[in-house]
Amino acid sequence: MQQTYEPIIGLEVHAELLTRSKMFCGCEVVDSITAKPNRFICPVCTGQPGALPVLNKKAVELAVKVGLALECEIHTESIFARKNYFYPDLPKGYQISQYDQPLATDGKLLIETESGVKEIRIRRVHLEEDTGKLSHADAHSFIDYNRSGVPLLEIVTEPDLRSPDEAKAYATALHAILRYLDVNSGDMEKGVIRFEANVSVRKMGSDQLNARTEIKNLNSFRSLAQGIEYEIARQTEIYSRGGVVEQETVGFNESTGKTYSQRGKEEAHDYRYFPEPDLPPLVLDADWIESIRATLPELPDAKTKRFISDFGLTPLDARFLTSDLSLADYFERVASHSKSPAKSVHSWIAGEFMRYINESGIKIDDVTLLPESFAKLIDMVTDKTIGGNSAKVVLSEMLQHGGYPAQIVQEKGLAQVSDESFIQEAVTKVLNDNPSEVEKYLAGKETLLQWFVGQVARSTKGKADPSVTRELLVKELEERRR
Ligand code: ADP
Ligand code: MG
Ligand code: ZN
Repeated sequence: MQQTYEPIIGLEVHAELLTRSKMFCGCEVVDSITAKPNRFICPVCTGQPGALPVLNKKAVELAVKVGLALECEIHTESIFARKNYFYPDLPKGYQISQYDQPLATDGKLLIETESGVKEIRIRRVHLEEDTGKLSHADAHSFIDYNRSGVPLLEIVTEPDLRSPDEAKAYATALHAILRYLDVNSGDMEKGVIRFEANVSVRKMGSDQLNARTEIKNLNSFRSLAQGIEYEIARQTEIYSRGGVVEQETVGFNESTGKTYSQRGKEEAHDYRYFPEPDLPPLVLDADWIESIRATLPELPDAKTKRFISDFGLTPLDARFLTSDLSLADYFERVASHSKSPAKSVHSWIAGEFMRYINESGIKIDDVTLLPESFAKLIDMVTDKTIGGNSAKVVLSEMLQHGGYPAQIVQEKGLAQVSDESFIQEAVTKVLNDNPSEVEKYLAGKETLLQWFVGQVARSTKGKADPSVTRELLVKELEERRR
């Protein structure tokens, strides 16, 4: 009998915090792609002897926000520790991180799975600092310390995830929360959010935890799912032939989609953690924590519920819109200006609008089309001033060059006509021009009706009201039956 195996996954997520200065010094946090390398550094973030760290209060505030949003317990006392290891991107020889007394613990995040909503337990949320950035070209290696000391938040789950899809759902939901809280830019291609996945498999029904591998450098949702998928297959295969999976750290190669061994258990780091002697324990005032709680915005789950109840959207449609704060905001602004059903607003935004966003690469926040104008356009479709296809033309024009819907409709002569004599003329012409289709229709191939409607739309450049067209077509076709 084929033995089935169950994947067990726990995620560690690193997210850079959107502060103006670094975690322990006054250096500016800059864009890692565009800023000149090694210009935003000082003795503290390059680990010069004798330099002393000073904690960034804003970073703590943003971390507390995340902890609260994930329903964690926020500890009024937490401790910074030194995590010692050598690497060229870590000039100090240790990273300041929180270890056995983190800022926040025991939270949860709800994710959407095939079988409904599932709670993923959050083990801990703690503060640390980012490392420098190494890059390699030909025989050379380059190091940029601009990123060294940038505030970093680590969010660790319990091993509650059971598939690559669940891991992706968790990562997506967390990404959305970080954006809603405005604590992280969300620009995954800039490496501001990075994943590590711990993966093991066990026989279905077992409740023991087997040895896990930890997959490093997963920098996109796609890599995250692919890396996990590969590890599950690899480990399942080992167990199926009676082998044993060794605990190890693996890397992920984006071009092959495979993981490769980095170091085994024997070479595992011993970080020699000890409390950071240059920083006092982080003691938070309970009132300060409460004042941060008061600033929490409406989070994705709450917004989804409100979109369902206020706009009558389906859970699926609502969740699509709330998956991105900018998208949710844009939808809401269009909907508030529109007299059309929210369902129509949703389908224009999820359809044509998102197509434009994806194809143009423009960010939703940078869209110049006024929500009022978009709403007006949708209303013109609803009240049949223009047809759907014409509206797509107008929308594309407005997204690219601006302008007002009524004006563009007039300039392009796109107004829909429901005047029967105009449409009747087009109907008669289409039927006269296509005698063999008429014959087939009359012989029983009624699906051709839609084709005739399309021909009339074409010949009138989309101006004919489709419902009037259809009515007149049926009438005239019936007359031709005799
Ligand atoms: P470390 O601190 O050494 O990285 P932890 O025990 O803190 O290890 O766990 C790190 C992550 O690995 C957590 O997300 C946890 O849920 C997950 N994890 C722990 N054991 C397993 C396992 N057997 N299989 C899959 N994931 C695991
Ligand atoms: Mg780890
Ligand atoms: Zn510095």
